Amino acid sequence: MNSIRLVRTLTKCISVRPYSMAPCEILELLEAGYQKLADSDSKSLLKKHLTKPIFDKLKTKVTPSYCSTLLDCIQSGLCNLDSNVGIYAPDPEAYQTFAEIFDPIINDYHKGFGKGAKHPASCFGYGADFPDLDPEQKFILSTRVRCGRSIQDFPFNPCLSEDDYRKLECMITKVLSTLCNEHAGKYYPLVGMEKDVQQKLIDKHYLFKEGDRFLQAANASRFWPTGRGIFINRARTFLVWVNEEDHIRIISMERGGDLGRVYERMIIGLESLAYSLKFSSDSRLGNLTFCPTNLGTTIRASVHIKLPHLGKDRAKLEEMAKKHNLQVRGTSGEHTEAKDGVYDISNTRRMGLTEYQAVGEMHKGISALIEAECQECCKK
Ligand code: ADP
Ligand code: MG
Repeated sequence: MNSIRLVRTLTKCISVRPYSMAPCEILELLEAGYQKLADSDSKSLLKKHLTKPIFDKLKTKVTPSYCSTLLDCIQSGLCNLDSNVGIYAPDPEAYQTFAEIFDPIINDYHKGFGKGAKHPASCFGYGADFPDLDPEQKFILSTRVRCGRSIQDFPFNPCLSEDDYRKLECMITKVLSTLCNEHAGKYYPLVGMEKDVQQKLIDKHYLFKEGDRFLQAANASRFWPTGRGIFINRARTFLVWVNEEDHIRIISMERGGDLGRVYERMIIGLESLAYSLKFSSDSRLGNLTFCPTNLGTTIRASVHIKLPHLGKDRAKLEEMAKKHNLQVRGTSGEHTEAKDGVYDISNTRRMGLTEYQAVGEMHKGISALIEAECQECCKK
């Protein structure tokens, strides 16, 4: 697949892509990549849904404004056969141009978002409706709620120029500097950040990690670290990631299990930013993001939790989590292992339901897991 990277690098150097259909060299790489995927035992949603007729129908298409090809969408899944999903939208139009592959994957991941489905209007509700999940602090180490936003009139990572990254950073940080009260803080650009400072922020789970191979293969790490950075409030409970996977990730987190308070802080931060920034959205898909798993509400509400009995059998824990539409990740997030029995468990579905429902689903599911853990404990 190195040849794919090479050609992508070359084609990305052409600032204006002058084609109305994918050129021969892209088609050759697509054919070879498709064959490799088809012959593999990949468990990705890409492999599951990219049938030959769909592949043949889409392989020559390009998006109207950015000339993104099918290769731009699926190259991460072709390079990383161990992907869970394997597809990203290089620009907002890709969701329409390549709908035949995005739609079934969206439907599968978000557990029911068929052809006629429409993402509901935003409804955040009140954090106070979600009581502390672990008032005695026996299981939950910390709680985090994040959402992602894309700035209108900008494409996603693979199509951003170095200048776009700078422009986005400038626009976003200007607004961040106006946040007040609990949300007031400081922006730390990655450019010029000492490596040990960066690592400490990553280890404390504040900052995104560097060198994610899934994002790199999707062409999402170009011009790194230009335009990337993190905003942190004084109490280190409200963070904003700039130009990582999405243009903006708005994060609220704190120790313990007070989901309502964490959620409420995220809502206020988001509303403050929405006052001055225009975000990309689609009447059917809701908020638009780089990865189709984040569309719609874009909400991921998670806990870092220790479940010593249920955690003895990871497969069983995952099965139980799945019943509650929850996803189990490792201690340092996606594609990492659980350390010291600490799991990151969050809502899987972000689309086809409101923000309030997505967080409610997580609250209900985590409560059920804690109850099951207590029952296991009593049996001993
Ligand atoms: P995202 O979906 O927000 O990109 P990732 O899986 O990439 O999440 O993880 C990003 C960071 O957030 C990681 O350092 C991860 O450990 C951290 N994280 C996620 N949930 C929690 C939590 N409940 N408490 C503390 N850190 C968390
Ligand atoms: Mg991430």
